[in-house]
Amino acid sequence: MITSVKGTRDLLPPDTRVWNRVEAVAREVFALYGFDEIRTPVLESTELFVRSVGESTDIVHKEMYTFTDRGDRSVTLRPENTAGVARAYVEHAMAQAGRPWKLYYIGPQFRYERPQKGRYREFRQIGAEVLGAADAAADAELLVMLFDFLLRLGFTGVSVSLNSVGTEATRPAFVDAIRSFFSSNEKTLGDDDRRRLAENPLRVLDSKDPAVRQLVASPGFPKMVDLLPTLDPASDAHYRELKVLLVASNVPFKEDPLLVRGLDYYTRTVFEMTAEGLGAQNALLGGGRYDKLVSDLGGPKTPGIGFAIGEDRLIDVLPEAFRKVTIDDVRPVTLIPLDRNDVADALVLAKELRGAGFAVDVVTAAKGPGYGLKVAERSGAAVAILLGQKEREERTANLKDLAGRTQEVIPRAGLIEALRARL
Ligand code: AMP
Repeated sequence: MITSVKGTRDLLPPDTRVWNRVEAVAREVFALYGFDEIRTPVLESTELFVRSVGESTDIVHKEMYTFTDRGDRSVTLRPENTAGVARAYVEHAMAQAGRPWKLYYIGPQFRYERPQKGRYREFRQIGAEVLGAADAAADAELLVMLFDFLLRLGFTGVSVSLNSVGTEATRPAFVDAIRSFFSSNEKTLGDDDRRRLAENPLRVLDSKDPAVRQLVASPGFPKMVDLLPTLDPASDAHYRELKVLLVASNVPFKEDPLLVRGLDYYTRTVFEMTAEGLGAQNALLGGGRYDKLVSDLGGPKTPGIGFAIGEDRLIDVLPEAFRKVTIDDVRPVTLIPLDRNDVADALVLAKELRGAGFAVDVVTAAKGPGYGLKVAERSGAAVAILLGQKEREERTANLKDLAGRTQEVIPRAGLIEALRARL
């Protein structure tokens, strides 16, 4: 037997109904905020992620699906989508439109991680990006939209962790402070963290090593936000304005001075949300501002901000009410021709009912009414209609209400009305 590749999985019905509904809600809500969809390729040049996500991040260092194609190019299955969106923005000279671009995407991403609950090698993200808007109002609006979306899925009590990671103005001082903090206890660091400290000390904050996490959480560990007022007053003002706007917009948040997110391109605002039932290491979504990403990729200086929701995780912790309503939403009418001679009649009637807006399933295997009724029940049908010679000649339908367990013979002329009353 050939099975699916480790860390990947099939999404099966009826769950796929839930996925589709969640995506439909995302499209509806994002459109209300002026966002349009972008679809970028799953396959990108490896260099795109090396230059944007960053060489010293876990993603680029050890999680990418990278291979050489038959034309000897190094290509990578995208591990995230922001880099692709920024590349497209530059490639299509979208800056020339002279307005901010608000784009959303929905699609698969690939990371070679250790599979566990909520962590897959192929997973899906729903994300949104605003390109060309620098002020804190854009950050606030994005978070307002995110909350609107989550509320419509039935989530309550969600809260965002928020931080500012400053800009190049503060990076060197912050990096120095981290290095000097670890100078006395470098021995506690494992190989990975020692590499991080040497290459890009900010990445030590991504460490999963409990001993290192404990050190990072200790009061003496340097905090970027403490450096902002003196070293980068503009970023400090941006952060303060964002907090004021979030309070005014009723968006609940907690400040987390240790939050940096595992990607190099962030500047100023970063945020993350975890959900009950996922475990503290598994964030439901993350995002932030990336004011240098577009210019780093060769485009004009363009500020940007965005988020990515882990769709697999979102669906794992989706409120039960939303899931149930979505799954119960499709309740077909099942037509059961009793004999071969009744099949044509069933197909004609099915077409008529579908034209009137009903989902109709015709049981085509002529195995008698017993099998037909079992199929109807197992597929969640609300109503089954038995069609035999008698019904065909008398222009009637034998309607079985599967929930109410009643049966009634109804003239064909009144059938649509009878179904409307029941469904
Ligand atoms: P990132 O692109 O790293 O900022 O992650 C954004 C969100 O994508 C995370 O908060 C997760 O919800 C989701 N995500 C990241 N990696 C995985 C994975 N391996 N499996 C499932 N979801 C993931």
